[in-house]
Amino acid sequence: MSTNEASPSNAEIERLLAIDRAHAWHPYTSTIDRDPVYPVRRARGCTLELMDGRPLIDGMASWWCVIHGYNHPLLNQAARDQLEQMAHLMFGGLTHAPAVGLVERLVRITPEPLQQVFLCDSGSVAVEVAMKMALQYQQAIGQRKRVRFLTLRSGYHGDTFHAMSVCDPVTGMHHLFNQVLPRQFFAPAPTPRFGEPCSDAEIAEFERLIETHRDEIAAVILEPIVQGAGGMRFYSAEYLQRVRALCDAHGVLLIADEIATGFGRTGELFACEHAGISPDIMTLGKALTGGYLTSAATLATDQVAHTISSAEPGAFMHGPTFMGNPLACAIANASIDLLLNPSTENRSSTGSATNQPVWQAKIAGIEQLLQSGLEQCLSLPGVAEVRVLGAIGVVEMKQPVAMREIQRRFVERGVWVRPFGRLVYLMPPFIISDEELRRLTAAVVEVLAEPAF
Ligand code: PMP
Repeated sequence: MSTNEASPSNAEIERLLAIDRAHAWHPYTSTIDRDPVYPVRRARGCTLELMDGRPLIDGMASWWCVIHGYNHPLLNQAARDQLEQMAHLMFGGLTHAPAVGLVERLVRITPEPLQQVFLCDSGSVAVEVAMKMALQYQQAIGQRKRVRFLTLRSGYHGDTFHAMSVCDPVTGMHHLFNQVLPRQFFAPAPTPRFGEPCSDAEIAEFERLIETHRDEIAAVILEPIVQGAGGMRFYSAEYLQRVRALCDAHGVLLIADEIATGFGRTGELFACEHAGISPDIMTLGKALTGGYLTSAATLATDQVAHTISSAEPGAFMHGPTFMGNPLACAIANASIDLLLNPSTENRSSTGSATNQPVWQAKIAGIEQLLQSGLEQCLSLPGVAEVRVLGAIGVVEMKQPVAMREIQRRFVERGVWVRPFGRLVYLMPPFIISDEELRRLTAAVVEVLAEPAF
């Protein structure tokens, strides 16, 4: 990231950090015992540049979002072009080309029955919208007692109230908000792994719950194939197929939360495709704008949407101020085009490209390098398991890692990796080079080999 601009002085950096420490409340942190934060000056490609000039290779894609890397010229251009037209416009009673372009693209690239797109602000809001759609749908067909949700343990769906109610009840925040959280049904986390079949016994408890409570359940909500922030677990496609069949058998809707998995991360464009199933409602977010702006979408089948619309009050009752924000939509369109463009640069030499689209070959190359790089951790005494799917690589430790200390060690080694609990994981931007990826996995092996971890 070479420019001749002078780096900020130590005094400037200290001043910024002092204000941050005094007033900026970071995610899941205390204002009394502040976690250290690292000030970033700018970012380009897969490199974050700290204010003191040190470069860090990014292993996190800013929590799954930044699939094309930072400061991408085409996304920058899309943003600039749209700024010249309008940055924002209310979506009530008005429409615009960026939003129309985005709904058209989303309908085209998601499973065929999903035809209606509700644009919204963030992942958690997209989940709230999906759950409200399921509730209005069940009301519309006269199933007024169907007001609860069935989900899987180890799941994560966001931090707003209804989204939180379907997060894992132990690692989620249920004990804190017990008095106000709606009560949901929890099936065990799927035991059959990705690539394995699913036996009758392995779906039995899910089946029992949906059969017993079918008259109370509006929808099943789950993360297809990859349970992300609730444990980074990859589960059987057949399990998901069996869930789809059970939902159909009992008149329960299926909501697939693809906020983390969407746009190629697992090696398919959407994780539902691993199982060849289509949900009734799907949520998207995170990588939707290539990580440029907050934006999300909830898609529904015509059947769900038209049923809601045909009953009292004759409309779906949600309408965020920033829905369909033109700037976000224009960038999302550019991001989707860039992902699916057959001539997109492929900097990996390892992907076996033959019949695959370029993006998919790229993910296959990342998968191979994550696998070969991270499996070296298996010889370390503190490591319980290594698992890789698509552009997600996970090292599960036997004990939780000391977050502040391990973070510091990664930064000293020139990489940005942010573990949680027992999980040290990588989900880099898709444009990462083989060399950068090797440096990331080597840093994970070296840091985890230190006696402190
Ligand atoms: N669903 C899933 C599967 C997620 O991974 C997340 C975010 N980690 C959310 C919902 C919530 O998204 P947001 O943080 O944008 O509200």
